[in-house]
Amino acid sequence: MKEKILNAIKAIDPQGKTVVQLYNEISDAVMKNIEIKTCETQNKAAYYLSIEFLIGRMFYNNLLELGILEDVANILREKGVSIQMFEEIEDAALGNGGLGRLAACFIDSAAGLNLPLYGMGIRYKYGLFKQRFEDGFQEEFPDDWQSFGDPWSIRKEGERRVIRFADMDVTAVPYDVPIIGKDRINALRLYQAEGGKKAEQISEYLYPADDTEEGKLLRLRQEYFLSAAAVGDLIERYVRENGKGFAAFSKKNAVQLNDTHPVLAAVEFIRVLTHEYSVPFAKAVMIARETFNYTNHTILPEALECWPKKYIQALLPDIYDILVKLDSKQRRDCRKAGVEKADYAAMRIVQGTTFSMANTAVFLANKVNGVARIHTEILKESLFAPAYRNMPEKFVNVTNGITQRRWLQLCNAELSSLIDSCIGSKWREDVSLLGGMKEFAQDEKVLDGFVKVKREKKAQLAQYVQAKDGIVLLPNAIVYAQVKRLHEYKRQLMTAFAILEIYHKLKSGELKDFYPSVFLFGAKSAPAYFRAKGIIKFINEISKMIAADGDVNQKLQVVFVSNYNVSYAEKIVTGTDVSLQVSTAGLEASGTGNMKFMLNGSVTCGTMDGANIEIVEHAGRSNNYIFGAEVDEISRLKAEGYDPNAIFAKDPQMKRAVETLIDGTFTDGGKGYFQELYNSLTVGASWHKPDHYFIARDLPEYVDALLRINKDYASSDFVKKQFINMASAAYFSSDRSVSEYAEKIWKI
Ligand SMILES: *Cc1c(COP(=O)(O)O)cnc(C)c1O
Repeated sequence: MKEKILNAIKAIDPQGKTVVQLYNEISDAVMKNIEIKTCETQNKAAYYLSIEFLIGRMFYNNLLELGILEDVANILREKGVSIQMFEEIEDAALGNGGLGRLAACFIDSAAGLNLPLYGMGIRYKYGLFKQRFEDGFQEEFPDDWQSFGDPWSIRKEGERRVIRFADMDVTAVPYDVPIIGKDRINALRLYQAEGGKKAEQISEYLYPADDTEEGKLLRLRQEYFLSAAAVGDLIERYVRENGKGFAAFSKKNAVQLNDTHPVLAAVEFIRVLTHEYSVPFAKAVMIARETFNYTNHTILPEALECWPKKYIQALLPDIYDILVKLDSKQRRDCRKAGVEKADYAAMRIVQGTTFSMANTAVFLANKVNGVARIHTEILKESLFAPAYRNMPEKFVNVTNGITQRRWLQLCNAELSSLIDSCIGSKWREDVSLLGGMKEFAQDEKVLDGFVKVKREKKAQLAQYVQAKDGIVLLPNAIVYAQVKRLHEYKRQLMTAFAILEIYHKLKSGELKDFYPSVFLFGAKSAPAYFRAKGIIKFINEISKMIAADGDVNQKLQVVFVSNYNVSYAEKIVTGTDVSLQVSTAGLEASGTGNMKFMLNGSVTCGTMDGANIEIVEHAGRSNNYIFGAEVDEISRLKAEGYDPNAIFAKDPQMKRAVETLIDGTFTDGGKGYFQELYNSLTVGASWHKPDHYFIARDLPEYVDALLRINKDYASSDFVKKQFINMASAAYFSSDRSVSEYAEKIWKI
């Protein structure tokens, strides 16, 4: 196979061709010579249903996975073409953040582990919007990723399927994308909606604006579209191979629901079995329960989907009937099992005038999992406590992971070679061997090599930022990075205040010997999320003020890169010293950005939240900078009362930083963003108390941690800390996560 591909690439003549043309020709040469598996004939397979797959650039990754990246680079060099040229091809951003990137890492690991796991998602015409800043404000532009062509998918015309809504029929046409592993190539199947303008809308945008009823209905259509297309495929294939007795269905198929968006798949499954194959209802429910599993990603109440009954009744009357029947069955089951009234009320599928997708998922799932140990504990103790009391066997933890192929081998070839030179290259296939690097943490020569790599990656990052955003990074500075979706619970605003406090200390001369520092942000805000957009503008204002201040601008720099995406992340995680992971304890389910930084040798400056807890367990607390209230303290503060204004009053430096929101230091062009942020901290709003995310509680310790890092940075101890983090990161490989899913949940 490799020889055939390389010969086909050798035959390409680059003369007079554009980058896009060449990209398509080379990709085609690969696609013509590989075989993509779309199903199993004998064995059990698992299916990963996700509304997002944030794959990133496929070109380099696919060549790496095929083991021909260097060969192709050499062939192209001989033709006078640099392989780097293809960085011009932009990412297909069919996802928004961690949840979608997790799905991409999982299918990558499954292919690498030779496991039959198939992704199923939606082929959005436009991915997550492209972000630009206009006077520091976020502006959104459509992401027309197909303008570069789509050589990496195959349209499966013959496998189209009709999806029925009350008011229209929509055709789902699958496109198969190769997910390449060493010994197998699995399909990621993305469905495109066709059949007229209204039908096409369903797969037009990832996250249509849902601040209107129409937008919400479109979102519901998307969820059902994916669910019904995927279930239709699974059932049709099963019946073709096994006939219409469904007794063995769950011996052949396991389905993982990535969050609640595809939960209707389990309901659709029951609908098809009962309505189209005359399976009795109770039996259909039983088979669904052996087949479907649910991963929870958040406990934020506003992110837990509840669909108004009337929407489902209007668009999907048969699904409505099944949900009502499931709700009755749940009532009967609970009565029979003697479930407490309050527990039943909390677990109930029908919640007021809505159907709770999370409760439906828990009711129908074989296993329910959280994505980091603390998150699963929180699910068991609070969000799903009633379900856990009554069905403890359903709950399992699988801590998230990231693929070391994209997030180390591909993005950091330099560090990968250093590792090879210490422990050989077998770790590339068996990542658990990476732990062998711990033995080199005292080896001065290896540490020197490590420092050199970090310096080089920092230079590459600086080049990239300059090319993309036209900003020159301070040379030889510490790089602190906070890159992730913009959300209040992730507390980019707290970092902004910490920077302001440091800035004021520098101005007053209180800080001597401050090591030059760059604070790098990257984040997109949901288009309708007013406060998040205000935070972006606020940070950009801080950035501008500091850059213009000759007293400090050689010591401190704040850079908000635009259009943060997977390709940007690949540069940032390798060139960063300090990974900022500062969510309010209890609110970041796991995080995976934290793992990417760790694997590339950053220390974590963060709270005891999500996977940070396990990161610190593996790499040692003393090798990281942990601060802030832990989960118990946050709960206690919530119960006993928390008064941020009292803290502001006692801490003039904090007060000064916070008041820059309203004292005229900065302007938001009269749009009210900053006043709103200030109010959210000091007076609260309709649905939450002042400083809902406990910034005032944690800020002093945060500033302290950042300054401690600044002091420690110049010592060789700091390098050792970074190195030990890298050497301890094997546990956070998605190879480990996927193996756990395969054993504990899918039984494949
Ligand atoms: C890894 C990744 C994320 C998730 O980051 P968190 O810090 O875990 O929220 C989001 N976006 C992109 C582009 C990523 O690569």
